[in-house]
Amino acid sequence: MSMLATALTQFDEVAGRLDLEPQIQQHLRHPRRSLIVSVPIRNDAGDLEVFTGYRVQHSMTLGPSKGGIRYHPDVDLEEVTALAMLMTWKCALMGLPYGGAKGGVRCDPLKLSPRELERMTRRYASEIHLCIGPDRDIPAPDMGTNEQVMAWIMDTYSMQRGTTVPGVVTNKPVLLGGSLGRVESTGRGVAYAAAEAMAHLGLPLAGARVVVQGFGNVGSVAARMLNGMGCRVVAVSDVQGGIYNPEGLDVPALQAVARAGQWVRQYPEGEPISNEELLLLPCEILIPAALGGQLTAGNAGAVQTRLIVEGANGPTTAEADRHLRERDIFIVPDILANAGGVIVSYFEWVQDLQFFFWKEDEVNSRLRDILTGAFHRTLRLAQQEGVDLRTAALMEAVTRVAQATKLRGIYP
Ligand code: NAD
Repeated sequence: MSMLATALTQFDEVAGRLDLEPQIQQHLRHPRRSLIVSVPIRNDAGDLEVFTGYRVQHSMTLGPSKGGIRYHPDVDLEEVTALAMLMTWKCALMGLPYGGAKGGVRCDPLKLSPRELERMTRRYASEIHLCIGPDRDIPAPDMGTNEQVMAWIMDTYSMQRGTTVPGVVTNKPVLLGGSLGRVESTGRGVAYAAAEAMAHLGLPLAGARVVVQGFGNVGSVAARMLNGMGCRVVAVSDVQGGIYNPEGLDVPALQAVARAGQWVRQYPEGEPISNEELLLLPCEILIPAALGGQLTAGNAGAVQTRLIVEGANGPTTAEADRHLRERDIFIVPDILANAGGVIVSYFEWVQDLQFFFWKEDEVNSRLRDILTGAFHRTLRLAQQEGVDLRTAALMEAVTRVAQATKLRGIYP
């Protein structure tokens, strides 16, 4: 099942449960705008290469749309559309004044030189510049993109406007109007969500075994934070495979390995394992923090964890979700677990609009308030309705967007 089919299945189930009017359901199933752009660049050898880029704005009902930009060989319109829809629900669940969007370029960023990456980013940014902006649609990084890519997008947009516009993207370098704490915010939020869920399950964090798929921005920070809370991180992976040590891995040393541009399996103190094996390791906390569609009907029956905290967007297919629930594995869904990034993106945007910047402590404590508040609200709703956390999170989010849609009415 594709990520879009999963997102629509989950939405339709929740719409049915909420007794949503069929017209509103139809309306919310469709993205508001989908833009496909051609991104031609000259490579370093002087030859022309043409990439395909996307920006999908699912909803702008609660405010300008917000969502990351992904550079990955699997990016396509369906995936971007699914991710845009998830962003609508995530922003609504967190009570942020945003709709949802997502973008991406189908490419392998590891095969591009820094100059090629810059040229591709600037061309993509100029192709989408008419539909983005601080009061329209505000991109941020996702897989394969980073602060530098955001700086190029901000610069390209600002050049087109003739004035510096820091609020057009978030997760920029701090020097250009980025927020303190933004880089770590998603992983930090994942760790907060994991801690709240463990407390709810009555399981101690001290000594709890953690497995993380995807040791990137989200996964590495979540691993480091949970390690700091007393957990034992026993396995982590990247695109090349994973490393496993039941005694616990040295997370800061692994971060140094990753920062040095090496693969985690090059770290000597553990046993190399595949990404497929990693998902099936015995642990208390499993954090998929790489791609979507990793937990499927094929492997959900063999997963050996008590808790799944979805760092990645859409890592669990609808069938896997059912299997895991039947097996009493508690899941903190993506739109709740990884919302730390968009929460601090919101803080960054507010700071940019006001040209007034906050201290890191303030950013982190406001992040914790919003995320843990949303966790407990969602948990209460799940208990009241007798549903799982994903269904409750979607119920709350869809209710907000549907109510706002009704209040605004349908134009014209
Ligand atoms: P990243 O590029 O920093 O890291 C991704 C990691 O996953 C890398 O270690 C990469 O090697 C690994 N990876 C890639 N393909 C893989 C595969 N097939 N199997 C195993 N590992 C693989 O990306 P990120 O920003 O950490 O994003 C990770 C996930 O979190 C994505 O699903 C993204 O949508 C989601 N997310 C990110 C943010 C954010 O603020 N960065 C916010 C919300 C959700």
